[in-house]
Order: sequence, then structure tokens, then C-alpha cells
Amino acid sequence: MTSDQIFTVFERHSSPSSLPELSLRLLEQQKETWTILAGEYASLGAVKHREVSCEGFSVFLQFNPGRIVSTGAKVDEKSILERRCFLCVQNLPPDQKGILYQGEFLVLCNPAPIFPQHFTISNINHIPQAIEPFVGTFLNLARELGPALTVFYNGPKCGASAPDHMHFQANTSGSIPVERDAADPRRTLVRKRIDDTTVSTLRNYGREVIVLESSIQEKIERIFLKIIKALQEGSRVDFEPMINVLCSYGNGSWRLILFPRRKHRPDAYFREGDAQVMVSPAAVDIGGLMVTPMERDFDRIDARMMEGILDEVSLEKELVDRIVADL
Ligand SMILES: [Zn+2]
Repeated sequence: MTSDQIFTVFERHSSPSSLPELSLRLLEQQKETWTILAGEYASLGAVKHREVSCEGFSVFLQFNPGRIVSTGAKVDEKSILERRCFLCVQNLPPDQKGILYQGEFLVLCNPAPIFPQHFTISNINHIPQAIEPFVGTFLNLARELGPALTVFYNGPKCGASAPDHMHFQANTSGSIPVERDAADPRRTLVRKRIDDTTVSTLRNYGREVIVLESSIQEKIERIFLKIIKALQEGSRVDFEPMINVLCSYGNGSWRLILFPRRKHRPDAYFREGDAQVMVSPAAVDIGGLMVTPMERDFDRIDARMMEGILDEVSLEKELVDRIVADL
């Protein structure tokens, strides 16, 4: 990493400005100096949205042609090995700069934005995408970026377009529907209170969601790790279970929203020609903002199709209920 690539440095106990302030300044600077990014943000103003009213919940479709690189990304091991990693510092575009966070991560502007503020927070080293070693970082980032921004994580087999390079993303808080739904007491069903942490699920939501809320970092961290272990055992896999997780912080407590998954992409993604449906659900999509780079899909996805996709990629309810009961 060269000093040219560092916009500024954030250190928890010594930075005079907050992380959201610095991130906003970075975004403004990058829009002025990085033409491609400016263009992508300008086209974001023209993306189309449409509400799909499903049984018990709504999902918003976003037609965003700029997302073709991510949605269409080949994430199999061979393709990953053969490509140049786009998150490695030596491969970043010459105009791209980042905020060095705690000497370990770089806060970067995502060049294919979905939100008015969209950041990628990548490790400065090329190390695999994995949540367990970085749960503490995840919670700290949520606290330091909140309440303006929400942090999210996509598992290596479940939506991360760089499964070989550790990264989080951050979005303008409240721009993913589940953020509002998980805060709605009519929607949440409290299943347990363990120490200081509340464990809830969401009613009539068409996919499985586990919500953890706590004001004590060690407690929420412990339960989150316990759930990951239980999901791994329940799914009978020896790698990280498929998950998408959002984490926000406000009024002195964390809210962690976890989507346990059984499939990354629906079968329709792999069909040929007209039958192919170009959606590749990761945290944003399963959170209720389904992004498609194809206008054809934006026009034709109806409630039944949407319910089918969510049900197909979500983990079975019975397994999730058992895991929550055993906590
Ligand atoms: Zn890399």
C-alpha cells in the first residue's frame, strides 16, 4: 500500500472526526477525482424501483445495470484463482483512496453503488472471507459507523464477490427493508432472552431471519458465534455455513440481523436464454431490496416468483427453530 492510497487514518481513541464524517468526506473527494465513480453515482439517480407485495411482506426490486459485474460474478474456485483480486491494494484503480481503519482495514467507495452511500471495507491483506476471526471488528465497525451507516457481511459461499479477500460493506442506514422490519414490534417474535441479549425471529417474512439485540458486546458476540457453530453442525458442513448478516448500532445497543441460507443462487439463475433469472441474493437482496441488472427480470418478477426465490435460498424453518430453541 502506498501513502497515495490513504485518504486519511482512523484510530479509535485518537481520531478527532467520527468514521461516518470521514467516510462522507472520502465519498465527496472520490466523486470529484475518480470519474468512473462519479458516473456510477450519477446513474444511481436513474435506477428504477418497484414494490412487489408478497404474502405478508414486501420486497423492492431495483433495476441497476451497473451491478452486472457483481450479480454475474463467477465465484467458483477456479475462476477466483484465475482472476486478479480487485480488493488487493496493489490492484486498486489509481484514483481510488481509502480510510485506513485501525491499521487493518481500508474503507473504500464501492464502485458499483446500490445506495446513496455505499462502502466496501476490505482487509489490507489478501486473506479469506470468514466472519469468525472478525466478529469483534464487525461489531466495532457497526458502532463506529452508526447510526448513519449499517455494516453487512456476505459469507464466502453466499454472495461475497471476493470470497478469497476478507471484506465488509456499509450502506446508508434504513435503505434495506429488513432494517425497518426487524425494528417493528408487530413483526418481531421474541424467542429468548439470554443474559442481556434478545433473540427474535420475524413473523410471516417468507424467509428465515434471526435477530439479536444487545448493549453488551461480549454477550452478542458469544451468541452470534454459537449460532454460527450450530448452523454449521445443522447444515453438516466443515466450512463456514451460508449466512448474510447486517449489523447496526443506535441508542447504545447493537442489532444483528442474520439470514441463514441453504443456497446462494436460485436454480433459475443457471437456466439458459430467456429462462434465466439474473438475481444473485446476498445480504441486500435477501434483506428485501432485490437487485437485478436485467430490465427483463425487473419487469417480470412477480409475487409468486419472488416468494419462490426467497423460499428456495433460505434455510429450512424447522432447522432454524431447533437452533434457536437449543441456544
Ligand atoms: Zn485480494
